[in-house]
Amino acid sequence: SHVPSLTLNNGAAMPQLGFGVWQIPDEEATAAVSTALEAGYRSIDTAAVYDNEKGTGRALAASGIPRDELFVTTKLWNSATEKWTRESVLREFDASLDRLGLDHIDLYLVHWPRAMRDDYVTIVRTFAELAESGRARAVGVSNFSAAHLERVLAETPVVPAVNQVELHPQFPQAELRAFHARHGITTEAWSPLGQGKGLLDNPVLARIAARHDRTPAQVVLRWHLQLGHVAIPKSVTPSRIRENIDVFGFVLDDADLDAIAGLDRGRRLGPDPEEFD
Ligand code: NAD
Repeated sequence: SHVPSLTLNNGAAMPQLGFGVWQIPDEEATAAVSTALEAGYRSIDTAAVYDNEKGTGRALAASGIPRDELFVTTKLWNSATEKWTRESVLREFDASLDRLGLDHIDLYLVHWPRAMRDDYVTIVRTFAELAESGRARAVGVSNFSAAHLERVLAETPVVPAVNQVELHPQFPQAELRAFHARHGITTEAWSPLGQGKGLLDNPVLARIAARHDRTPAQVVLRWHLQLGHVAIPKSVTPSRIRENIDVFGFVLDDADLDAIAGLDRGRRLGPDPEEFD
């Protein structure tokens, strides 16, 4: 595949562009992931709570692509009514492997910090065991703030390989990206297209897209790549799945990047990680 990789802090390579499958029903996930793999994606981002690990796993198996060319991410959901324990985390990891039909995961993430439950230190310490055994090649977190990360760094042996957070031109997360850079944590952008409409209709993007003979979605994905982090756009439409990986034949210049910087609204689309439980 022509998608460049970033090197994570454990030495593993992660494709800079992947395919996200949130909100794709399990019975549609096989077709969507198969289309993505045919289009050249090798990194797939799912989660236990998306309820499509089985459909995703079926597409991975049917593709015939060697396992070591694939990069599969899944996430531990905050579904326990009580705190997660070492034992329940290990059981849930096995359940995800089972649903995916895999014997290892490339990246296992804590889906949300849920700091009010005070169990993410236990979870990350358990993830260290999974990384040690190689069953999770890399481990990381999602939706963690700098304060949550500081606590992980202080109280566990783990430097998360990745923090997957909401990040797009309207919410560019400059401070958190700088924190990640200081600590060797790779930034991964969720909702990289700002979930479509509200962002992609922006006239600034339309103008830049027209100048490069590209689409607004391609301009936004190019912005992510040039900022140097991972992006995982989602679509179920085959033409868009292909469009979203066809972003290696042009380069945004400084004027483009400056114009896109002007789209920052400092406002999230998704929940605030401090409050989400
Ligand atoms: P996204 O920013 O990828 O936007 C997807 C939507 O944009 C599509 O449903 C479609 O409406 C539109 N779209 C896609 N391609 C397009 C194109 N080429 N032209 C026009 N419109 C297009 O949003 P997302 O699905 O929220 O995020 C992507 C992935 O990030 C998810 O699938 C999931 O894997 C991950 N995610 C993780 C978390 C988390 O808490 N860790 C939260 C949300 C999403």
